[in-house]
Amino acid sequence: MGILSAKLSAVKPSQTKAMTALATSLKEQGKSIITLSQGEPDFATPENISRAAVAAIHAGHTKYTAVAGIPALREAVVKKFQRENNLTFTADQITVGCGAKQLLFNALMASLDEGDEVVFPTPCWVSYPEIVKLAGGTPVAVETRARDGFIMQPADLRAAITPRTKWLMLNSPSNPTGAVYSRKNLEELAAVLREFPDVWVLADDIYEHLVYGDVKFCTMAEVAPDLANRTVTVNGVSKSYAMTGWRVGYAGGPLEIIKAMNTVQGQSTSHTCSISQYAAVEALNGDQSFIGKFRRAFEQRRNIVVKMLNEIPGLECNTPDGAFYVFVGCEALLGMTTPKGQKLATDMDFAMYLMEEAGVAVVPGSGFMADGFIRISYASSEDDLKNACAAIGDAVSKLTRA
Ligand code: PLP
Repeated sequence: MGILSAKLSAVKPSQTKAMTALATSLKEQGKSIITLSQGEPDFATPENISRAAVAAIHAGHTKYTAVAGIPALREAVVKKFQRENNLTFTADQITVGCGAKQLLFNALMASLDEGDEVVFPTPCWVSYPEIVKLAGGTPVAVETRARDGFIMQPADLRAAITPRTKWLMLNSPSNPTGAVYSRKNLEELAAVLREFPDVWVLADDIYEHLVYGDVKFCTMAEVAPDLANRTVTVNGVSKSYAMTGWRVGYAGGPLEIIKAMNTVQGQSTSHTCSISQYAAVEALNGDQSFIGKFRRAFEQRRNIVVKMLNEIPGLECNTPDGAFYVFVGCEALLGMTTPKGQKLATDMDFAMYLMEEAGVAVVPGSGFMADGFIRISYASSEDDLKNACAAIGDAVSKLTRA
């Protein structure tokens, strides 16, 4: 009998983190690598937020807090949901954890029995199937297609639901595709969910503020208020406020599940860092103007990257409406041979080739349950993005078909 549980043996480490770690180790060996594999803004946390954290330390806010988070933060979250999403919660319907990731984990730990099913569209964030498995559930992937803009189709949702389905997990804007569910898309999915009153919705809105052009963000509980009594809305400060390392996420939902999520958290991490909580109060209540600045910078970078990549023969990508990723089809290059004589059989081979030949770290689509793609994060400087796309183009031009 080995030391690892059967449950853990089925869980894969994050490929995003693996590619970023490989890039970092190659950099340490002196190789020049542009890292486009990670999911975090390259901007610094705004100064007013950092100052609030320093003030919290000096005010002695360095002790344990309530499991669900300090009252001031839960109040700030109540106001945020009302102001930006037209969602009404009381403070005890809010819980705060170590990033949106922990809220998703807490919700699933609190609700899944062995074999319960969780439906989500793919391509999906690397962690969804793994968190479901860790919580004892069974992931049910619903494939979406590039021609539908990677939006889950209502008929496909209906076909995936069984008597064991507990949750639909929905991430909009999406990591890795950048797809944003419109009001109409959500209304259509809500109509299906009304046929299945026992299925709950776990809305992961972590990229909410990163939508471009005329695209409007909306979330399920807002579009379908009748489903609010079975929806948990998860969000956080990581992406919108350039605060990935502070580890603050939050969720709002029906009291019963929020209380159970607090029980999970109370027996694991207790709460997120007290200082980070004070910083998050300032993030949510303070000046919001830099969000627009971040958004404009990302939109410009997106346009550069999409144009340059689509000019490379064998690569193709949609113009994503949100988040800071492009999901690039590379199927046409599979089967080609590198200058060293290696045949590229998979998207992983292609990603490794780009690391070696172009000095660019990307994540293979297979990590997101979608073969034949790579994900490129454009949360990097314009110069890095232009140099990376040019280097990818050069590397692709060296491939030959035997
Ligand atoms: N949800 C999605 C879709 C993500 O891409 C990420 C981070 O990459 C998270 C949640 C986690 O966010 P946090 O840093 O708040 O845990």
